[in-house]
This record gives sequence, C-alpha cells and structure tokens, in this order.
Amino acid sequence: MSGPLDGQVAVVTGSSRGIGRACAIELAAAGATVIVNYTANQAAANACLMDIIKAGGNGIVVRSDVANPEQAKQLIDTAIESFDKVDILVNNAGINRDRTIARMSVEEWDTVIQTDLSSMFYCTSAVVPGMRERNYGRIINISSIVGQMGNMGQANYAAAKAGMIAFTKTAAKELARNQITVNAICPGFIDTEMVSALSDEVKTAVLANIPLGRFGTAEEVAAVVRFLCTEGGFFTGSQLSPNGGQYM
Ligand code: NAP
Repeated sequence: MSGPLDGQVAVVTGSSRGIGRACAIELAAAGATVIVNYTANQAAANACLMDIIKAGGNGIVVRSDVANPEQAKQLIDTAIESFDKVDILVNNAGINRDRTIARMSVEEWDTVIQTDLSSMFYCTSAVVPGMRERNYGRIINISSIVGQMGNMGQANYAAAKAGMIAFTKTAAKELARNQITVNAICPGFIDTEMVSALSDEVKTAVLANIPLGRFGTAEEVAAVVRFLCTEGGFFTGSQLSPNGGQYM
C-alpha cells in the first residue's frame, strides 16, 4: 500500500468494530502501518486486520484493555517494539452505560470514566516521549456531540467526552512546540453497534433533531481522521464535528 502516510505507524484504540475499525482501514489505505486494538472481540479484530492486509496494507492485532494503565502502556510498548515508533494515535475506544444520575451506580460512573477518558491519558502519555524526540505526531481523540451539549441519561459519558475536549486543548498547547498536533473529533450519531443498540423510539427522536435527516457513517468519521493526518497539519486543539448539523 502506498500513500501519503507511507512509513508512518498508527495505533487506533478499539479498532475491532465501528468507528475505530473504519479509522484503521482508512489509515492503512493511506499507507500507514496500523496497530488494531481490541479488548474482548478477537475475531472482529482479526477480521479488521485481514481486510487491511487483503487491500495491500500492513499491521498487527494487539489485545489490550486500555482502561487499565498497565495494559494501555503495554499496547504502546508493543507498537514501538514492533515498528520502532508511533506517529499517529487515535484514542477511540469507548463504551456507554446509560442511566439517569439518580439511578447511576458508582461502578457505571467509574467504568465509563476509566474507559472513555482515562484511557486517553494512559495512551497519550505513553506515545508523547517518542513523538517529542522525533518532533512529529498526530493525536486524535474521538469525543462526542454529547460532550459538547450533554444528553439525558449520559452524565458519565458526557463528562468523559467533555473531559476529552479539555484534555485535547491542553495537550495541543503543551505539545505544539514539538510539532505534535492534538485534535478532537465530536461525531453526532453514527450508525455503529453503539447506536443500533438504541430503541426505535429513541432513534426516531434523535433523527428528528438531525437537520441532514440521517445518522452518519463510520467511514465519514474516518475521513476526518485521515484529513487530520494528511492535509490537516495546521489544525491543533480543534473540535471537528461530523454531526449532520445536530449541534452548531
Ligand atoms: P462500538 O461499535 O461499540 O465499538 C467500540 C470499540 O471499542 C470496539 O472495538 C471495542 O472492542 C473497543 N473497546 C471498548 N472498550 C475497550 C477497552 N477497554 N479497551 C480496548 N478497546 C475497547 O463503538 P463506536 O460506535 O464505534 O464508538 C467508537 C468511539 O466513538 C467511542 O469512543 C464512542 O464514544 C465514540 N462515538 C460514537 C458515536 C456513535 O454514534 N457511534 C458518536 C460519537 C462518539 P471489542 O470489540 O473488543 O469490544
């Protein structure tokens, strides 16, 4: 595979399915060597890598629960041991455990904060030393429209995703001197398993609030990731919002 990201190494957390999978395939199609990461669904992660290889790309699969600080560090260490460096980090792994604040358990709160927010810090802090040495890096954090506008029943998820935006701005300021850009993508509702799990009633209500009248696709988010890694070198600390106009 040959393209604008030839010779670059990308880690995409949570790339066995959904948006992460589309990002892994898109970055590989642009020439990057991709580390496909998962925590539970090995068959899906292997299938993602097979699709990359069949299309002429290169990569490996690494199992790692990025909500765990040691395993997140191990993921980045494995990438560096295998391919010498990490040029691109996409912090994508995420879950939701929806419940109103009055009913939400401490476990539901903690699990979402660990998986969606803390994992980004664990992986980012592990890639930064090498990126600084080489004066180059692209860090892309997959936040959410919910982090921008809040949402009923998602206090844990909204807090994690808003935290990602604030972290993105701070990291962008800290790392700009090393030509490392850090950006957040805040997708609206994207047609993945996370959204197909919603009831038909909720889906209809959501669609009524999307001016473009449809859910987005994982590929449309992956195209933004690719842009940030190729022509988007003057973006840092930004929030890019593929959301069909749901939040302006
Ligand atoms: P998805 O289809 O549910 O896929 C989630 C991915 O994350 C899977 O690959 C899963 O791996 C992985 N994952 C979950 N916990 C992990 C952990 N602890 N360590 C490593 N990997 C883990 O989700 P999605 O809809 O593609 O969402 C991807 C990201 O986009 C999330 O951060 C989500 O919050 C964000 N987002 C989604 C939407 C949307 O509408 N779908 C909108 C805005 C933002 P396994 O296969 O091993 O479980």
